[in-house]
Amino acid sequence: MNRGFLLVIMIIGFLSAIGQTNQKATKSPKLIVGMMVDQMRWDFIYRYQHRYGEGGFKRILREGFTNEDAHIPYAQTVTAVGHACVYTGSVPALNGIMGNEWYDRRLKRSVYCVEDDSVQVVGGKGNFGPMSPRNLQSTSIADELNLATNFRSKIVGVALKDRGSILPAGRSGNAYWYESTSGNFITSTWYMNNLPNWAASFNSRKVVDSLYDLPWSLSYPFESYVQSDQRNPSYAKNPFPRNFSSNKGKSYAAIANTPWGNTLTMAFSIAAIEGEQLGIDSIPDLLAISLSTPDYIGHSVGPNSVEIEDVYIKLDRELANFFTYLDKKVGKGQYLFFLTADHGVAHVPAYMQSHNLPAKAMRSNKNAEQATMKKFGLSRLVEATANHQVYLDRHYLDSMKADYEAVKRFYIDRINEDPDVLFAFDNAAIAHVNLPAEYREMFQKGYNRELAGDVQVVHRPGYIYSSNPAGTTHGSMYPYDSHIPLLWMGWGVKQGISHRRVYMSDIAGTVTAMLKIQAPSGNVGTIIYELIK
Ligand SMILES: [Zn+2]
Repeated sequence: MNRGFLLVIMIIGFLSAIGQTNQKATKSPKLIVGMMVDQMRWDFIYRYQHRYGEGGFKRILREGFTNEDAHIPYAQTVTAVGHACVYTGSVPALNGIMGNEWYDRRLKRSVYCVEDDSVQVVGGKGNFGPMSPRNLQSTSIADELNLATNFRSKIVGVALKDRGSILPAGRSGNAYWYESTSGNFITSTWYMNNLPNWAASFNSRKVVDSLYDLPWSLSYPFESYVQSDQRNPSYAKNPFPRNFSSNKGKSYAAIANTPWGNTLTMAFSIAAIEGEQLGIDSIPDLLAISLSTPDYIGHSVGPNSVEIEDVYIKLDRELANFFTYLDKKVGKGQYLFFLTADHGVAHVPAYMQSHNLPAKAMRSNKNAEQATMKKFGLSRLVEATANHQVYLDRHYLDSMKADYEAVKRFYIDRINEDPDVLFAFDNAAIAHVNLPAEYREMFQKGYNRELAGDVQVVHRPGYIYSSNPAGTTHGSMYPYDSHIPLLWMGWGVKQGISHRRVYMSDIAGTVTAMLKIQAPSGNVGTIIYELIK
């Protein structure tokens, strides 16, 4: 036989053998790890990149895929809504999670997103009441994975915040969150009657106390934090390194405001992988981690702080260690990893103003309410406010035989006289609001017919409601709140980058498409096809 021909046959044989190995390896991932960083803006990937090592964010960019223009599709950019949207591919209009809290007209009170009085706390003191995903009205990646495997997948949600673990784990996964009064990771009888041994044993080791022994030393010299506002007088008053050891055995809440809040969350996540043997067999498991600490710190000092810069430098190292661990435990290329955020954050208004940039910390303004009550001879008007929405007291207006539509119109006109307000509109008529289509759609997707208020108030870009002049917040439709990172790595993921506009609600549909399972029941997203191998 011709030697050249033989060589060609051998090469074809070799290539097809590789193909078969790949096919075997790519049937499904052993583990899906979804990570949400609470309050991470997209630009933090690049803002601090020169400070990152090779194994964390830079490794994802080098080996994985990044969606550079991923946005939140609804207006109320807060924690609960973001965590629900990523895992359900759905929006408040359909999945029922329309804020961290909202007002319920039927119950005549404010409702917390994951409250549930019909269950009991497991593993803790219960100071904050029992929690569950009962208010979540559509299935999630977790539930669809369970439905696809006849509930043989193992699903674990972990976060310091209850809503950060409960909503991602869906209605059929298990969730654990941190109780700041006991220092324990806890759960509820929605999930189980007793903590598994691995979780109880983690709690008994009081890892939080050992973390309090570590002072918060900056990763680099203070002077090198040139991306942040070093002139802030807080650094003279509260210099680094900062010591937390006085909290040991006393205050378990303080950990959330230190970089070690992430360390604690990752330690519990690894305990969950070991304890539940996640990613060991061929049935895909899901670990949904949410890192709450960047949000706690970000609210108090804002994104232009040495604290936030250092939190991300340290988070980058946590990521590198976690990937090394997963490579060894589950196998490189055997797990699908994605990282995103529930929302971004506004700059501290005073910092913006010091550079002549548009921003303001507003106080709530009652002028419109008072003017409307006077005009119509009412003694009450507003029943509640939540998520920049006003719930008018419909029963009272009825009892006064007031013209609801006329009252509402007059009230909206008065709100619009407030110079801090961009505009207010009638929530029932969003489709007719004269807003750029992109923004109008965000309000439509955030509008839940049963749970929404009567009037939506929209403030100007850069404006926040705040009583803390040093701090900041999020929750608006603007890009600093809605433009989030979306990074992918591992099983089934191409190396690459895309600048196409995609949405937070596309994540669940993409993950379920990659797994060849049904999309969640309230899914509104499309598939981010560019990243799929
Ligand atoms: Zn958040």
